[in-house]
Amino acid sequence: MNKPFWLEALANWVLGRDPHLRRHVLMLMFTLEPYAVCVGVILHSKYLKLLDAPTAHSLTAVSVLSFAVMYVLIRSGWSQRFGDPVLTFPHALVSILLCMAAYTQLGENRGNVMILIAQTIVLAMFRLKPTQVLALGICTIVALAGCVMGLAVFSPTRYPASSGWTHFVVGGSTLLTLSLIGKWVSDIRVRIGRQARELQEAVDTVKQMATTDMLTGALNRRMMTELAEAELKLVERTGIPMCLALIDIDHFKHVNDQFGHHAGDAVLRGMAQHAQGQIRQVDKFARWGGEEFLVMLPSIPATEGMNAIERLRLSIEKLDYPGYPQLRVTFSAGIAQAKPGEALEQLIERADAALYEAKRQGRNRSLLASPELVSVHAEALSTREVLS
Ligand code: GH3
Ligand code: MG
Ligand code: MG
Repeated sequence: MNKPFWLEALANWVLGRDPHLRRHVLMLMFTLEPYAVCVGVILHSKYLKLLDAPTAHSLTAVSVLSFAVMYVLIRSGWSQRFGDPVLTFPHALVSILLCMAAYTQLGENRGNVMILIAQTIVLAMFRLKPTQVLALGICTIVALAGCVMGLAVFSPTRYPASSGWTHFVVGGSTLLTLSLIGKWVSDIRVRIGRQARELQEAVDTVKQMATTDMLTGALNRRMMTELAEAELKLVERTGIPMCLALIDIDHFKHVNDQFGHHAGDAVLRGMAQHAQGQIRQVDKFARWGGEEFLVMLPSIPATEGMNAIERLRLSIEKLDYPGYPQLRVTFSAGIAQAKPGEALEQLIERADAALYEAKRQGRNRSLLASPELVSVHAEALSTREVLS
């Protein structure tokens, strides 16, 4: 169901439009409830005459102000520069200091503040690092001890030392337990986060391995087959043209024989990287086998496909390969335009026939597929089979 316009506008104004920022402001909003309870306890204490009006109003103003400052820092985007843009640690410290100030003023009502401190630690433990949770707990216990001692010394009639120390022992041990649980929860959270990242990396690697060729970084045969088959369906449905170019490096065996297998690998890598920079973004470049590549050129007819491959061929002729300055290679290519309803194997066979003819005519050239070439190629293949 669509939100009413005014609600959407209000949410945009309060939380911001950017989804990241919005999430961070929303997290801050979770702390609104303990603030509201804190102010409620202060005002209730004033009503019970446990607190004079000026102190109640000052504590309320400081609470509202500290929440407002946190809101401005986060909502303005200023806090985005930090590792934790929600400012959990400083915010939790400020809240606990506020609670301590209230604790020293609320008389009989001060026990409620302990619950708010516990709530602050619980809220913070889901965002803080394990050591920060522990540090927060220790700071709180130390501050509580300071408050209890201060009250026992400066206001012994209102805050008798015996009840103060009972508060400290019960409250402090509860806070210590809570901090330790918080650290444990935070440890688990960090570990789960790390494992999730590692799992995602593993999934990315597997995906990469399933779709790309290890040596050249080009798409692999399996991925290209999938993409080309999907594109052929589009050709059949829409009639938009599409070409395939089968590219084969000339005399690649000589490269390996003369310069070594490493040089051959450098050529395959260099050529694939260069070609991927030359083609359009919609074109796909795959390693089809040994020193053969397949280029898919969607949305263009054979003549334009031919121009694109010729441009590539002329630039490859001049391409340098790192570590082999004297090495130059050329390629031959066969280009075929898909016919509506044609199977991928047939299309590739026609491109292969044109490639075969390009090799036969002397290499370092591109040829368009034609029906005659297919029959010549088929004849040559059957002769080769008979001879072998
Ligand atoms: P043509 O001009 O007729 O295509 O001749 P060619 O020498 O390129 O063709 P041929 O099919 O005789 O040789 C291809 C060579 O490619 C043989 C094989 O050792 C080499 N090759 C295949 N894959 C790799 C590879 O991954 N790395 C290297 N270095 N060589 C490879
Ligand atoms: Mg070959
Ligand atoms: Mg070759």
